[in-house]
Amino acid sequence: MKIALIGNQNSGKTSLFNALTGMNQKIGNWPGVTIEKKEGTIKGTKHKLIDLPGIYSLSPYSIEENISKDFIFKENPDIIINVVDSTNLERNLYLTTQVLETSCKVIIALNMSDLLEEKGIQIDEQKLSKYLKTPVYKVSALTKEGIDDLITEINQKIKPKQPQSIFDEKIEKAITEVETSLKDNHKRFTSIKILENDYRFKNEKYTKIRKKLEKNYDTDLEEIIATERYDYIEKIRKDVLKRTKKKESISDKLDKIFLNKYLSFPIFIIIMFLIYFLSVGVVGTYTVDLIGSIMDNFTNFINQFLVTHNVSGWLVSLVCDGIIAGVGAVLSFVPQLIILFLCISILETTGYMSRISLMLDKFFRKIGLSGKALIPFIVGSGCSVPGIMGTRIIENADEREMTSILTPFIPCSAKLPIIALFSGSFFGKNSGLVSASLYFLAIIVIIISALIMKKFIYKTSSSTFIYELPEYRLPSLKYTLRDVYDKVISFIKRAGTVILMCSIVIWFLLSFSFKLEYGVAIEDSILAVIGNKISFIFYPILGVNSWGATISAIQGLVAKEQVISSMSIIAGFTEEVGGTELFNSSIFSFFTPVSAYAFMVFNLFSAPCFGAIGAMKRELGSNKKLLIAIFFQTFMAWLLSALINIIGTIIISI
Ligand code: GDP
Ligand code: MG
Repeated sequence: MKIALIGNQNSGKTSLFNALTGMNQKIGNWPGVTIEKKEGTIKGTKHKLIDLPGIYSLSPYSIEENISKDFIFKENPDIIINVVDSTNLERNLYLTTQVLETSCKVIIALNMSDLLEEKGIQIDEQKLSKYLKTPVYKVSALTKEGIDDLITEINQKIKPKQPQSIFDEKIEKAITEVETSLKDNHKRFTSIKILENDYRFKNEKYTKIRKKLEKNYDTDLEEIIATERYDYIEKIRKDVLKRTKKKESISDKLDKIFLNKYLSFPIFIIIMFLIYFLSVGVVGTYTVDLIGSIMDNFTNFINQFLVTHNVSGWLVSLVCDGIIAGVGAVLSFVPQLIILFLCISILETTGYMSRISLMLDKFFRKIGLSGKALIPFIVGSGCSVPGIMGTRIIENADEREMTSILTPFIPCSAKLPIIALFSGSFFGKNSGLVSASLYFLAIIVIIISALIMKKFIYKTSSSTFIYELPEYRLPSLKYTLRDVYDKVISFIKRAGTVILMCSIVIWFLLSFSFKLEYGVAIEDSILAVIGNKISFIFYPILGVNSWGATISAIQGLVAKEQVISSMSIIAGFTEEVGGTELFNSSIFSFFTPVSAYAFMVFNLFSAPCFGAIGAMKRELGSNKKLLIAIFFQTFMAWLLSALINIIGTIIISI
């Protein structure tokens, strides 16, 4: 015998398949795990069992529905086991009414019955069986309860099917009329499809019957049939299902605290603060500094080693300033990432993450993002790299990509020296206000960019809102460690190559002239020549052509704090200097408060450092998307800063 499992997504078909066959198929609780059908043999019998993809109806709305419908029509199974999630009876019965219209014997398996008591649901399966005119069994794929009874039922001799009748008298009459003239295998099913005018069953012969009925009801027959199905289900539900007051579970108790009207937000802020404090705050900064000094010592050691072995100057510089600096940049993010991933993994596995989404989704949905986007944004104010890597918590691919492109807009801690220098030098008493205005601007830029991306790039993005919250669980150590390890390794692999390559390229451009002479003065380097050639790009922002400002901004790609040290070197100082000295030097004396603000804005919002670009590559997947993202960020920054300079200059001159 051939037996098919049909049911909604997540009703437990694959679990039941495993329970019935003793096989071990992958069980998932996300859509699309079972796209192809799987086969096995029911234990103790010779019956073939087929696990079909999860569907909500037998109408042609998706590939899955077509696979299941085709299976019924072409393979003609002897029995269909309709797997019903008994904790969601109403929703599951819609498909059941359709399955009952086929000519196959149908057995209803009320799965997840182990959860009924806890949820305070009582189902009278005998009454349900009378309504549906087919055998109904309470089972649990998890505890294996009722599985043996199900197998006994499967082994029964198949009796002729009892006629179904769930629609209005007029419709039932029409169905019978069509049925009698059909030679089909599944007469009732086909008749209904013909009357619904389903394109796969179009048949001109019956147009008159359909038209007459539609005139009678004054609307589409498809609509009427769907409505009557729902009415019928509602009638059954009222009679067979009882909800008692459910026992308050531990999750319910915890939700009274975590989702409390007054407490939920403060708790959320405290948790966010803790994550921030651990990953990019005090602890994070400490680990970054620690690795920094270890790398410094290591660089000195290698430097000395190479010099004493008479290695040529450029090679020493390549190894120390190019390669080790690049590797150091990758490694310096790792401790922060480990802590962040640990925090996020715990938030996810305990079930708190879903609560965060629930709290924030309403607002974030308006700009096309998920409520979970707040976490990357908050973490990103410390460092974009863990922020971008944190977008992994967002399930919907479009929302995830959008968030990873938007996260670098939040001023990270490496951008603080730029803010401090420019606002301190040009705005004196108001520097605090100016700094705050940049964060405000960041929020506006994020909202506008999100709306632009939603309108032009990620048009279809809309993930469904999660209504059912998972139970709170204790995190598993093994799973958490494995999860963190996988994520960190994947960062080192993907981002590492990008960071290393880019560091070497910038090192080369800074160290060599176009004649490939090594160790030239900075104004003769290839980067300076290129800077000179492209400084016109910065003209609208600065009001002058400045190669010095141009290549400082480019050097910001290595790390944003480099913008300031680069400016110091270009101005002829041997080390980083304060604002007045820097802006009194001839090369940077052109800065006005307006162009200073504009230049700051450009550096804050343009393409992030290579570390963040590497992380973006990891999340976006393709080089093409990465380039588009970097271009988008830089263009937004350019447009905004040019507007600030132009409008600012006009306002000041009047
Ligand atoms: P499918 O999409 O219909 O194939 O559903 P799966 O077999 O993948 O199961 C979806 C989820 O429900 C998994 O997390 C299973 O562990 C869970 N599940 C399946 N059957 C039962 C059951 O009888 N009781 C409980 N408590 N959980 C179940
Ligand atoms: Mg499945």
